[in-house]
Amino acid sequence: DLVQPKSKGGAGFRDFRIFNQALLARQAWRLIYKPDSLCAQVLKARYYPNGNIQDTVFSGNASSSSQAISYGLDLLKKGLIWRVGNGRSIRVWRDNWIPRPFSYKPITLQGRCRIRFVSDLLNNNGSWNAAVLQEFFLPADVVEILKIRASPRQEDDTLAWGPGKYGVFSVRSAYEFGFEEAHRSSATGSSAHPDGRRSCWKLIWSSDVLPTVKNFAWRVATNSLPTWRNKNRRGLEVHALCPVCASEPEDCHHALCRCTLSRGLWDTMSEVWPLPCLATVLNNGDEWLLHMLEPLQEVERSMVLMTFWRAWHIRNEIVHHKPPPPMEASKRFLVSYMDSLIGIKTDLSSDPNRGKSYITYEPRMPHAILNIAERKWSAPKLGWVKLEIDGSFMDDGSAGAGMVLRDDKGAIIFSSCRQLFSCRDALEAELCACMEGLSFALQRSELPVQMEMDSIVAVKLIQASGMDRSVYTSVIKEIKYLMSLRETCITHVNCS
Ligand SMILES: [Zn+2]
Repeated sequence: DLVQPKSKGGAGFRDFRIFNQALLARQAWRLIYKPDSLCAQVLKARYYPNGNIQDTVFSGNASSSSQAISYGLDLLKKGLIWRVGNGRSIRVWRDNWIPRPFSYKPITLQGRCRIRFVSDLLNNNGSWNAAVLQEFFLPADVVEILKIRASPRQEDDTLAWGPGKYGVFSVRSAYEFGFEEAHRSSATGSSAHPDGRRSCWKLIWSSDVLPTVKNFAWRVATNSLPTWRNKNRRGLEVHALCPVCASEPEDCHHALCRCTLSRGLWDTMSEVWPLPCLATVLNNGDEWLLHMLEPLQEVERSMVLMTFWRAWHIRNEIVHHKPPPPMEASKRFLVSYMDSLIGIKTDLSSDPNRGKSYITYEPRMPHAILNIAERKWSAPKLGWVKLEIDGSFMDDGSAGAGMVLRDDKGAIIFSSCRQLFSCRDALEAELCACMEGLSFALQRSELPVQMEMDSIVAVKLIQASGMDRSVYTSVIKEIKYLMSLRETCITHVNCS
């Protein structure tokens, strides 16, 4: 009865074929997760007498005699992703290694690039060779690759389950992933590059908006936003009606073009931006957004995408029972963002002699250090030092790390706060702050270190035993390594 919809008391798996495939994928995953378990041994002896699962998974010559297990492997292969350590096991153009909601492979076509392994894109200290990236990859890929934190000490690459939370396999995530895959490939039909390499996607990739907005647009154009209709189809919601207005089923087109809320935002933005008339935007298939963007000017495209992105944000606030921001606040936010974008371009073209030095990005001061200042300080054990850490992350992708080290009397030994570049999310900001803070603390003091963080998830990931497979793997390994160099402990502080 797992396959029954939730409303009938099942776990909500509707499509038995995909559910079955997800169960088989779990068998295959065990070969990776617990290669020494009895189950894995038996499977391995039966199906993969030579070599390990990675070879089998990625080689494409499944010599398996069992249709069933290779059926599960098909799904597993699509969702497996490498966490980059030293990059030596990962083939740039063929393997999955870029974590984002669609296509774990580069969107860029290989072309004349001869580079084969991800290790060839890395410097010795684990940083990316930006010049090489910019030479061979489209900007949409470069942005995502720069967010990947490789191992500063050249540790091995790790396999993980891409759709799962923190890289861990679950049947539910495999089912949802399989469902989306099946649905997406039928939606994008005969296309030769259904994963985003088609030329019409340039309308999205080349637009002048934040990567987050591009990813959002991508999900709209592939109908993979978690609208109520999509969730209902997967059995995750009881009905498909719009959670905001309940007037009709919520698909992407409704959420962005027809819902009272999005129409309200659209009207507000039309006062200041030349937006097309929303009523003329037809729901002509999953790619309606691409049809809509096609005839527009570049700036107009950006405005359309930004407005839709904001409408979806407001919709999510409502769905999560938060007070939605007033329309005027959204208007100010979007206008100031777009103005700064256009402003930068105008300055560049108006006075080429002044070049880049003319643009002074005002890095927002990370809020992290302020948060720490507001915490109530409590002394560490006698003879210990205490490291307070906080990361901050903004909607626009800017991030900061703050850290303060004090002795057991409360005197500050050092404090630091700095911007983090190419940061993925708030959790990564926390972990990076922790890694840097600890590294400084070990240099500035000889004493045992008590670390204090307000992110319970970060604390749990650091304290977990066993192999981490999250996107933060390299950072977590580094923190664990640093912790092994000194007597340390880590505590969680509640931050109001
Ligand atoms: Zn609605």
